[in-house]
This record gives sequence, structure tokens and C-alpha cells, in this order.
Amino acid sequence: MRIYNTLSQKKEEFIPIEEGKVRMYVCGPTVYSYIHIGNARPIIVFDTFRRYMEYKGYDVNYVTNFTDVDDKIIKRAIEEGIDTREVSENYIKEAYRDMEALNVNEATHHPKATEEIDGMISMISTLIDKGHAYEKNGTVYYKTRSFEDYGKLSKKNIDDLESGSRIAVAEEKDDPLDFVLWKPKKDGEPYWVSPWGDGRPGWHIECSVMSAKYLGDQIDIHAGGEDLIFPHHENEIAQSEAASGKSFANYWMHNAFLNIDNKKMSKSEGNFFTVREICQQYDPQVVRFFMLNAHYRSPLNFSKDLMEAANSSLTRILTCVSQLEFLLESGAVQGDDLLDSELALVKDIEDLQKKYEDSMEDDLNTADAIAAIFEIVKIANISCKGESSKALLTFAKDKIVELAGILGINAHRDEELLDEKIESLIEERQQARKNKDFARSDEIRDMLLNKGIVLEDTREGVRWRRI
Ligand code: AMP
Ligand code: ZN
Repeated sequence: MRIYNTLSQKKEEFIPIEEGKVRMYVCGPTVYSYIHIGNARPIIVFDTFRRYMEYKGYDVNYVTNFTDVDDKIIKRAIEEGIDTREVSENYIKEAYRDMEALNVNEATHHPKATEEIDGMISMISTLIDKGHAYEKNGTVYYKTRSFEDYGKLSKKNIDDLESGSRIAVAEEKDDPLDFVLWKPKKDGEPYWVSPWGDGRPGWHIECSVMSAKYLGDQIDIHAGGEDLIFPHHENEIAQSEAASGKSFANYWMHNAFLNIDNKKMSKSEGNFFTVREICQQYDPQVVRFFMLNAHYRSPLNFSKDLMEAANSSLTRILTCVSQLEFLLESGAVQGDDLLDSELALVKDIEDLQKKYEDSMEDDLNTADAIAAIFEIVKIANISCKGESSKALLTFAKDKIVELAGILGINAHRDEELLDEKIESLIEERQQARKNKDFARSDEIRDMLLNKGIVLEDTREGVRWRRI
């Protein structure tokens, strides 16, 4: 596996610290609202990376966090007149729902910042003891210049940074470059007791602490969106390496940004979408497929047209699999062994599997990997027929399902509606009936019937069953 490492700025062969194992940490979202479609990019990309490494036989310890204490969460809680914990717990629950819809595998560990405060206090104390941090009036600062390698990830020169940050000098800091590890409490804010008084941690320290706790001082891969390179990841390196005296992460992976209609996503511009909104318009599989159609290091443009295009290309894969299933079920096939005339087709499909793997090995080139799946689909569409052997049909079908599965796409789910989707269609039908939109209500009933779901209107409400 070759990975583009932001640290060396080139593709490098992946060599794990411990044979057969991958220790990786991915920075997760701040939970003050529903996760947006941009947040979904690292979630989907690195889940796919993990799935591929597992396919290769690695045991992956995958850690990602929820930032559940932060200014934005506090602001939201004040606006709504509720406790910050209520805000964060609610949006953590919603984020899990979205991740499930996007078929993201649950992390090995999924820590929350507020549950790791002791570890943060302990790392901050170590940094003070080692001369890398100091306290002033209840605030603890990291002494940026005390870390010789500062800037090694973002390729920034510490002296250039200094001139840029002079405007924002806070008098009590020894140096304008120093950043906050712990800040004193303010009225109405959540706080924890610490050796420096009541307060709460700065943002950067949480990832250093959670990474060390669940993965050890040295990890293979640290990942996140490219906006995190500076200052977040640069500061994480400074904290972790100064505290442990060891090098922190061997590979740094960063996804490029997702834009909407070629513009930066922003609430004030009105081009801001949550995952929840988009998943109401499209099957979440389409969202996932859309994201993986681009290389993770290329900027990705999100638009209705591009989503429609992704929808129809995904349908081509799903239709091919259901056609193969139909041929297998219809029984009009020869015996269980491959026919001589089919050996070359099997070889072609195996070569395409290799092409798929080579693409994934090349810094997770999912776009080229998907192209290889389409080549298999093309072979199946042309060469798999009623008179093909069961062996060939099964081989082609399983290969497509397996390779799509590594991308987190269920290719044989076509005919099968999930319970959740059925419930939401029933709800929509009830709403349509309330609005006297009987055409829509009948349409939903027929659509469900087509998928083998029968609705029964009872006094207690609508019941459904599969036939
Ligand atoms: P945040 O909640 O802003 O800390 O973001 C959580 C994760 O989503 C981080 O890895 C960010 O880099 C990533 N992210 C945020 N916005 C976008 C975007 N528009 N495109 C891609 N990744 C993003
Ligand atoms: Zn982080």
C-alpha cells in the first residue's frame, strides 16, 4: 500500500509499526449540529481505507473522536437555553444515525473529549514539567518555540508565523505563537477541576491524549480534512512528541475539501447541506458512491447533477448484480463447473480484481477502483447469459459484490428495502393521505407492493409485512 504522506509530501510504502496491525486515528466532528456533507467526506474516505486494510488482512485499531466541548456547542446551548451536554449528546446520537445510514463501520474506539479530561490534565502537567508549557492566571499555554520541529507538517517557518500572529497578541502570553492547552472557566460554561483552577481544555490537546490512550504513543496513521493540517495537527505533533519524547504518527493523510456548486460550503451563502437532508433526497449509498468516485486528495464538487450521475452509475452496478441473481434463480443454466469457453472470462475478471487492488494500493485511488468494477460489470452484461454456467454467474456476481463491499456499497441490496426506509415511506404515505394527496399515497402503496411489502390499514395504524 502506498500512502501520500503530508509529512514527507510524497507517496510512501506503508510499513506498519507492528506487523499485521494498523493503528489509526481520525479527527472527528464537533457535535453542535447535524454533521454536514463536508464532514461526511473524511468519515467515508477513511472508513473505506480501513475496510481495504481489513480486506488485506490487517487488524485495524480505528479510533475517531467526538469533540463535545467547544465554543460552538456552548453558544448553541445558550441559544436554546439548555445544558451543553444535552446539545452534544443529542448530536452524537444523530451523527451515529447518519454514519449508520452511510454504512460506516463502528470505530474500534469512539471517545468523547469530555470523558477524557483526566488524561488531558495529566498530559498538560507532563508538558509543564518538561518545560514545554506554562501557566498564567489559570490559563496554560504551550511554549511553541520550545518544540524544535514546529512547522514540520505544514511546512511553515516559525519566524513567518510570528510576524503574522503579532496582531493578535494576548499580553499574558510569553510569545504570540503560544497556544492554549487549558483555559479558565467563564460564567455559564462547563468546567472541570484542575491544578490550574476550574476550567476546560483547549481543542488540540484532546486528540493527542485520546490517540495515546487508545493506540499508544506512536501510531501508524493520523488522518482528517486538509484544514486540520495547521494548526490542529501541527499542534498535536508538538504536544504528543514533546510529552512522550517519541515520534507521533508515521503517516499523515488529509482529504481535500468538498465544495457545493464550486463554492465553499457556508451557512450564510445558503449552500450548506447536512447529511440528513441529502439522505432524504438520495439513497445514502449514492452519497457514499459519489464521494468515492473522486480521489480523496482532489477537491470534490457537490451538485444535484453530479449526484444524479452518481445515482445512475451506481444503478448500473446494482442492476447488473440483480440480473446475475435473476439468471441464477431462473435456473436456465448449465452445470456447476465452468465451461471451457468461460475460462478466459474468469481470467479477465481476475485481472480486473488485480487492477482494482492496484488502484486501491496507489494511495486509495477509489475512482480507478470503481472503474475496474465497471469493467467487470461490462463483461458480465455482455457475456453472462441464461446459458452460462452457474459457476461463471456466481463468480462474476460475487466478485462485483465483494469489490463494491470494500467500498462500503451493498451491491445486492437492490430489491431489499430496509425496515427504516419502509417505515419512512409509510409515514410519507400517511402524510399524503392527510393532505388528501391520494395519488401519492397510492403510488407509495404500489411501490412497496412491487418490492414485496404489503400494507394493512388497521385501527391501531398501518402494519406491514413482507410477502
Ligand atoms: P469539524 O467538525 O469542523 O472539526 O470537522 C470534522 C472533520 O470534517 C474534519 O476532519 C474536517 O477537516 C472535515 N471537514 C469539514 N468540512 C469539510 C469539507 N467541506 N470538506 C471535506 N472535509 C471537511
Ligand atoms: Zn483532532
